[in-house]
Amino acid sequence: MVDSINLLIVDDCEDDREMYIRHLRSDDEFSYRFIEAETADEALLLYQANTIHGILLDFSLPGRDGTQVLADLKKLDNHIPAVMLTGQGNEKVAADAIKLGAQDYLTKSDVTAAALKRVVHNAIERVEMLRKIDLQQDDLSAFAGVLAHDLKAPINVIRGMNELIVEALNEQDYDSVSELTVRIERSTRRMSELIDTLRVYNKSSNNNRPLLDTSLEILLEDALINLELDIQKRGARITHDPLPNVMGDPPQIIQLMQNLIANGIKYSNAPTPEVHISAELVENAWRIGVKDNGIGIQEEDLQVIFQPFKRLHGYDEYRGSGLGLATCRKILDRHRCKIWCDSEAGKGTTFYFTLPVAAVAEKSLLVG
Ligand code: ADP
Repeated sequence: MVDSINLLIVDDCEDDREMYIRHLRSDDEFSYRFIEAETADEALLLYQANTIHGILLDFSLPGRDGTQVLADLKKLDNHIPAVMLTGQGNEKVAADAIKLGAQDYLTKSDVTAAALKRVVHNAIERVEMLRKIDLQQDDLSAFAGVLAHDLKAPINVIRGMNELIVEALNEQDYDSVSELTVRIERSTRRMSELIDTLRVYNKSSNNNRPLLDTSLEILLEDALINLELDIQKRGARITHDPLPNVMGDPPQIIQLMQNLIANGIKYSNAPTPEVHISAELVENAWRIGVKDNGIGIQEEDLQVIFQPFKRLHGYDEYRGSGLGLATCRKILDRHRCKIWCDSEAGKGTTFYFTLPVAAVAEKSLLVG
């Protein structure tokens, strides 16, 4: 788990908000960025505009109460990392809040630094675990899907080719036999590539390595070494801004940049494919851009491309498994970060992703 937490505090009383912030500032485990809302509407807007890891939600808000806010949040997300703050003797509200998806509740009169830290930690960790389980379930069904479909296709080809080889041998047509064995070889290569990418995809959420303060510039060099052949073959030009230090899992960040740069080169018909990597500090996180001059993506496909096995082109047109971007998303989920894409068909594509700023810089950015 990264130690920088975006905590949404929803309470119309400024003194109470200040008290929660004071208590949580003494937390040794997490450093918080506090995002404050006074009303239900404000809270919903801020929840949508930010990656929120935890919520402190006052029950009595002007207009709509806390349980109504929970019901609205539930429409946006499966799991809400919220702790409901209730008045004394309000067990019914607490029970309703839990039923509506709050992870815990705390009576306002019982708020102490220790109690607040305990409920906030529990809510965040529980939701993180629930989200992980959801992702694993999605993976399992996607995995079953690919086994049933993508792996079956080359197997069927091989079976068909085998029958043709038997016929050709009976007719002593050895030219056809050698042509057919080449096609079998191509299908087995495709199966093997698919299994390799599946392995990388599965590994991308199944490790508990800590996130390290690491130089993105050095990781980019490693990614480019892995892509040397592709870059040379296409005569691609890769350029970059000065890149910062980030908090990340180095092998995964290499994989992430490798997948995006490889796509920038692959999905390009330009005589010289160009990929530029940029970095900009936006709201306490690094926003990294990977921009290409390739074929672009239509607006209606910008979301679906991150789904496992989603491809917009046939295998013969552009080779691939449809797992590259899904792997990127998984890696960024693990970093509690986001990936998205801007593109115009025919004009090129920019993938953006965020990464946490490195620990030393983070302290000065988060103060205040
Ligand atoms: P793969 O490249 O193995 O098919 P990805 O998950 O990496 O799988 O990408 C999914 C789909 O998104 C690709 O099939 C392609 O249609 C589209 N795509 C990905 N990156 C780009 C890009 N830089 N430019 C244009 N299309 C892209």
